[in-house]
Amino acid sequence: MSRIYVDDVLCTRCGRVYEATRGCPASGIPAGTAWALVPMDWRCPDCGAPKSSFESVDVIYQRAYCVITGF
Ligand SMILES: [Zn+2]
Repeated sequence: MSRIYVDDVLCTRCGRVYEATRGCPASGIPAGTAWALVPMDWRCPDCGAPKSSFESVDVIYQRAYCVITGF
């Protein structure tokens, strides 16, 4: 079972995951940068979605759980 980091966020447009532990060096975000410290004008390097299109992986898992259990 892989560990889920609360700071991981998922691009709701393309499914790319931003991991704070890895950052995104390709787009100028060094490893270890918390999501809250990523600049507001940062965009998904894969699809160009704005930061507001990303959602916490934690929240998405909770939602998926709700769907599975019917709550
Ligand atoms: Zn994306």
